[in-house]
Amino acid sequence: MKAFELSFLQVLREGLTWLGWTLPEAALEAMARYAWIVREWNERLNLTAIVEPEAMAARHFVDSLSALQAFREPGWPPDPADWPPRRLADVGTGAGFPGLVLKLAWPALELALIEATGKKARFLETVVRSLGLEHVTILARRAEEVGQDPAHRERYDGAIARAVADLPVLLEYLLPLVRVGGVAVAMKGAEVEEEIAAARRAMDLFGGRLRDRCELVWPPYLSPRTLLVFEKIAPTPAKYPRRPGIPEKRPLR
Ligand code: SAM
Repeated sequence: MKAFELSFLQVLREGLTWLGWTLPEAALEAMARYAWIVREWNERLNLTAIVEPEAMAARHFVDSLSALQAFREPGWPPDPADWPPRRLADVGTGAGFPGLVLKLAWPALELALIEATGKKARFLETVVRSLGLEHVTILARRAEEVGQDPAHRERYDGAIARAVADLPVLLEYLLPLVRVGGVAVAMKGAEVEEEIAAARRAMDLFGGRLRDRCELVWPPYLSPRTLLVFEKIAPTPAKYPRRPGIPEKRPLR
């Protein structure tokens, strides 16, 4: 663990310098513990192809933290009290990225981790218990069901996802969860033009508007990233999201 932790923390610190942030030492140590748990469970659960400490720090942890840049553009948030959002949903979180990393950075966050695969959800429960985290809800359900559940529909200040689906599909997962005035953040790679063009109809249908795009480059650790920030400007019509599997099968383009 020690050698792993040292290499992990070195790159994590470099990443924080790149982002221009400092975090308490205890948060960094908790991230190292979390990375180690992912690595330990990985053989059984196949959670990630990235297991080297430096790559884990960069591509899972710093990349997750970089999502917050979406909220640091000039003019956003209009009121600093809006960020961090009190309630955030991470859709298709897998082993907990980006949601759990954001929670470790901002303990006040009320976080919902939505993950359809039961064994991954059970892994997340283990991590949350081991790290002693409070106000984290793990939902072993599909985003389409959660988005139709009155306990979750339009109840979040923010919803976020990384590596889950193409934009028209992703917006059907994210926007129904977000209250009017809140934001949906899609973490994407460099090539986003076609996806944005294909998602125009979905944005209109689900009540979203592309508010911001934030390009991030951190060579040599990360390939170029784009954060797409959608503001929820109108309630999502009741018929969305459609039944589980339908958004992916018949994306609204
Ligand atoms: N966000 C994590 C990351 O970036 O490391 C995991 C990405 S993984 C490629 C996609 C995850 O999304 C899988 O764990 C899958 O089970 C989950 N997923 C896909 N569609 C989903 C849906 N409709 N509802 C809930 N989870 C979903």
